[in-house]
Amino acid sequence: MRIIIIGAGPGGYRAAEYAAHNGIEVVIIEQDALGGTCLNRGCIPTKALCRSAEAVRQMHEAAALGITNVSFDIDFGAMQSRKDAVVAQLRSGVEQLMVMPGITLVRGEARLVDAHTVSVGDETYTADNIIIATGSAPKLPPIEGIETAGCLTSDSLLTIDHLPASLCIVGAGVIGMEFASIFAALGTEVTVVEYMPECLSMLDSDVASRVRKQMARQGITFYMQSAVHRLEPGRVYFTRKNKEQCIEAEQVLIATGRRPVTEGLGLETLDMEMLPNGCIATDAQLMTSIEGVYAIGDVNGKTMLAHAATMQGLAVVNQLLNRPTTVRLDLMPSVVFTYPEAAGVGITEQEVKAKKLPVRCARINYRQSGKALAMNEPDGVLKLLCDEHGVIVGCHAYGAHAADIIQEATALIHLSTTVYELADITHTHPTIGELIHDAALRLM
Ligand code: FAD
Repeated sequence: MRIIIIGAGPGGYRAAEYAAHNGIEVVIIEQDALGGTCLNRGCIPTKALCRSAEAVRQMHEAAALGITNVSFDIDFGAMQSRKDAVVAQLRSGVEQLMVMPGITLVRGEARLVDAHTVSVGDETYTADNIIIATGSAPKLPPIEGIETAGCLTSDSLLTIDHLPASLCIVGAGVIGMEFASIFAALGTEVTVVEYMPECLSMLDSDVASRVRKQMARQGITFYMQSAVHRLEPGRVYFTRKNKEQCIEAEQVLIATGRRPVTEGLGLETLDMEMLPNGCIATDAQLMTSIEGVYAIGDVNGKTMLAHAATMQGLAVVNQLLNRPTTVRLDLMPSVVFTYPEAAGVGITEQEVKAKKLPVRCARINYRQSGKALAMNEPDGVLKLLCDEHGVIVGCHAYGAHAADIIQEATALIHLSTTVYELADITHTHPTIGELIHDAALRLM
């Protein structure tokens, strides 16, 4: 069997590796750097900068931990270089993977000719199946002046060569909030302007609100329910509570969302079904409206996260291999690497209330945790939700290591574990992970 994969992001290259490992012949086509958005302009570079921001925060809290006379300088250029080195190291790893036996890497822009044929320049490639994994790119909203105001996107912000004195971020989604957290820690004056009443819409809204309030205490200014209507170089004009306001900032980041990358793929000629938001329509098996052609990752718009792209790719390859799969594409944990960190998986308390579900919720404060206090990280909350049979259906948290707790919760929900079973699982002491065990005991 032979497949063609278009795009070598975490959807495409991980699917290529898994398929080749299992005996499928793979042609993977990439027009840009291997690793996609995630490795080059997304998850990895931002997390490298998050680590620098974290180190600065630790310097500031040194006195509270009994370390005095700490003085330091921020060398933003060195932080950017370290980030670029991390990206380059990982990219070279992907480059090595993509020349493994069974994989043919083609450089260039791919265009679908028919359900089994793809062209790249003058060359054509044929296969039994095609997987489109072309990802997404920053989307600029139709705001007056946006083309001429010199605003940054997440792509360009990652390449700036000096730390701005002030940064106004339009959009309080994951990307906006992560950059707000990073730059505020590095000493930039950060303002966030958001149209919605709350940030981080994919999280439990109580968790999101607590994260925003904590970030406000760190000096970030938030203007919620504020509609940006005009942009000028260094100026953001918005309306809030029927009042016109303007923020001046050295740099402005537009972080209002991403759009699927489909241009140049020739989908119109194939009459492929598209969703109103421009994403490729797929069925439960991730197949497009064209038999044998699949779309995975950001381009299908289901969940714009790297692990979602990867798991969708594995699920498609399993189908092609006729291999039974228990991948649960409906169960996608979300993590935000702000300070504090926040994460969630499964049903939220708001959904429980809206749908009047027979679900119970236990809340545990980080203050109760010996490890949290020892770490000087007492702020945080964990919520665990279970149905009337005790089956765990959701978990949401903010605070130190929230992402790690949610990873455990994802495994528990995946395996339909009950709170009674969780209560029987030993959790090492002292760890933040004990909080989920404490929550299970409360639900018994
Ligand atoms: P992509 O990674 O976008 O890769 C698609 C690839 O296809 C690209 O390399 C592109 O060049 C190529 N391509 C497109 N068209 C063609 C064509 N016609 N021919 C050949 N090649 C083509 N997600 C997380 O899970 N955790 C995070 O912490 C996180 N942080 C992020 C931070 C930022 C700033 C951003 C922007 C995103 C972040 N994401 C994060 C989201 C994550 O990066 C994406 O969900 C993920 O990269 C999607 O993977 P993909 O394989 O679908 O597409």
